[in-house]
Amino acid sequence: MQIYADNAATTKMSQIAIDAMMPYMQGIFGNPSSLHSVGQEAAEALSEARAAVAASLGCEPREIYFTSGGSEADNQAIVSAAANGAKKGKKHIISTAFEHHAVLHTLKKLEKQGFEVTLLDVHQSGLITAAEVAAAIREDTCLVTVMYANNEIGTILPIAEIGAMCREKGVVFHTDAVQAAGHLHINVAEQNIDMLSLSAHKFHGPKGVGALYCRKGIILSNIIEGGAQERGKRGGTENIPAIMGMAAALSEACANADANAAKLSKMRDRLIDGLLKIEHSVLNGDRTNRLPGNVNMCFEGIEGESLLLMLDMHGVCASSGSACTSGSLDPSHVLLAIGRPHEVAHGSLRLSLSEYNTEEEVDAIISAVTEVVQYLRNMSPVWRDLKEGRKPHVI
Ligand SMILES: *Cc1c(COP(=O)(O)O)cnc(C)c1O
Repeated sequence: MQIYADNAATTKMSQIAIDAMMPYMQGIFGNPSSLHSVGQEAAEALSEARAAVAASLGCEPREIYFTSGGSEADNQAIVSAAANGAKKGKKHIISTAFEHHAVLHTLKKLEKQGFEVTLLDVHQSGLITAAEVAAAIREDTCLVTVMYANNEIGTILPIAEIGAMCREKGVVFHTDAVQAAGHLHINVAEQNIDMLSLSAHKFHGPKGVGALYCRKGIILSNIIEGGAQERGKRGGTENIPAIMGMAAALSEACANADANAAKLSKMRDRLIDGLLKIEHSVLNGDRTNRLPGNVNMCFEGIEGESLLLMLDMHGVCASSGSACTSGSLDPSHVLLAIGRPHEVAHGSLRLSLSEYNTEEEVDAIISAVTEVVQYLRNMSPVWRDLKEGRKPHVI
C-alpha cells in the first residue's frame, strides 16, 4: 500500500482535468494566433479558460495572464512592481521571511540591483499581522508581497486585512496564492489584491502551467520576450492543453472547496492529535489558522531525512518541508523563521493531505510515524543524551 501525503509538493491530476486536456492534444491542436479555423478553435478555448480562471478569482478575464507556473508568476509580479516603483523613485519592498524561494530569490536579485527589501519576522504561530506590515511601509515602498498560505506549515495569512491596508496607503499588494487557490475562497476585488500567483499542479491540474492575476492599470514587465501572446506580456505559443486542464481543475476545486475543506480538516485534526501523542513532538504553525490539509511536526532527536526514507519504506510519501529544499542539508528557512532551533528544525515532517486521502490512511500514517520515530530514537545518540538528562529537552 502506498499513501500519498505530499500534496503541498504536487497533486495527482483529477480525471476532469485530464479529460479537459485530451481534445487539445488530439483534434483541436491549433495555434491560437493562427487565423484559420483550426487556430481559431484553440483561440476560443483559450478565452473560455481565461474566463473560467477569472471567475474563480473574481476578476476580469483580461486581468489573467497564463504562465509556466507559480514561480514564473511570482517572478513577473515582483519584477514588474519593482520596475514600476523605480520609475517613481520608489525602491523599497516589503515581504516576509518565510516566503517561497520563487519570491525570496527574486527579491535577492532586486537587492543586487539597488532595491531595499524588508523581510518581516514571522511569529512562532507562523502568522504576521496587517499592523506589522503597515508599520514597515515607507514613502518609498513600491510593493508588499505576502504569501496567502505558507507551503510548509500551512498557516493562512490575513490577506484581506493586508490588502485593505495597502490599498488605503496606495501600495501595490501581491500575494503568492499557490497553496490557497482552489482550496480557499479568493476574491481579489473584495480582498483588495492587486497581483496574485497560482499554479495548476497544486490543485489537481497539470504541472508547468499557472496564472498571474494583475489588476488592470498595473503595467507588467516581460520575463519572456516574444510574440504578442498574453496581451504582449508573455511571449510564446500558449500551452493550450495545460491551460484547459488548469481551468477545469480550478473550477472543480472551487466548486468543491467547502466540502473538501470539511473532509480534510477532520482528517488533519485526527492526524495532528495522533502524532502529538508521540512524546517531545510539536506542531509547527497555528493549530486552527491553517490549510485544511496541512500537518507539520517536529520530533526531537530525529533527523528529518532518515524519517522520510523510513516512512517511504512503510509506504508513506511525505516531505520534510519544501520539496524545493530537499537535497540540501540546511534546515527549513520557514521553521527557522518561526523560531525553531536548528536541531529541532532538522527533525521536521510535513504531511499534506488531499481529498483523495482517507481516514484509514490517516490512521496508517499515525502508526507508521509513531513506529519509525521510536525506532530512530532508539538508535540515536542525541536521543540518549536527551533521555539521560545530559542535554535539556527543547520541545
Ligand atoms: C509550489 C509553489 C510555488 C511554485 O510553483 P510552481 O508552479 O511549481 O513553479 C510557489 N509558491 C508556493 C507557495 C508554492 O507552494
